[in-house]
Amino acid sequence: MNLLIIGAPGAGKGTMSEMILDKYHLIHVSTGDMLRAAVKNGTPVGLKAQEYMNRGELVPDEVIHDIIVERLSQDDIEAGFLFDGYPRTLNQAIDLDAILKELGKKIDGVINLNIEDAELIKRITGRRLCPGCGEIYNIYFMPPKVEGKCDKCDAELIQRKDDNLESLEVRLSEYHKNTQPVIEYYEKTGVVRHIDAKQAIEKVFADIDAVLEGLCK
Ligand SMILES: [Zn+2]
Repeated sequence: MNLLIIGAPGAGKGTMSEMILDKYHLIHVSTGDMLRAAVKNGTPVGLKAQEYMNRGELVPDEVIHDIIVERLSQDDIEAGFLFDGYPRTLNQAIDLDAILKELGKKIDGVINLNIEDAELIKRITGRRLCPGCGEIYNIYFMPPKVEGKCDKCDAELIQRKDDNLESLEVRLSEYHKNTQPVIEYYEKTGVVRHIDAKQAIEKVFADIDAVLEGLCK
């Protein structure tokens, strides 16, 4: 079973990916992880990626393409895979399809974690963390007992710099602009499954699980 998971920042993509991998023993294909590994191991493609990163530029699609081909050509991939955080754009989706076709594979399911922006904004801008013990709070959903103080160690809670409304709105509009065409592209082959990601974690996973059970048959 070959899957993609798609979701906006804060939709719970990381958590759901972990739960899917745990139960279905798929290979996790994360372009971010693969890039870091290629750079660390100094592979030809890693060295190329490093050049762009050193200049503070985005690693271009051609380099990512090579990394994906390399990964999908390995034997363990026969067990099935889960792509997480890729493809992000229509061009990447078209390219991935071409790679898979070449390898005699296809995408069986695209899990789209659906959630309104207003909810994501609360999830992310409401997040506070404790610099002392690492505990995470949310002022809307899981507030500390005393405003601004950690329940466990009494330290002053902080907000991550990226968790502010302005930078989130940029990330969300970027996400919608790029991802909507990707979803529409996969809709054409009937593989997209929309999951209500506003529900409790267990319920979101139960819905995904039901979809995957169906795909396994
Ligand atoms: Zn604390």
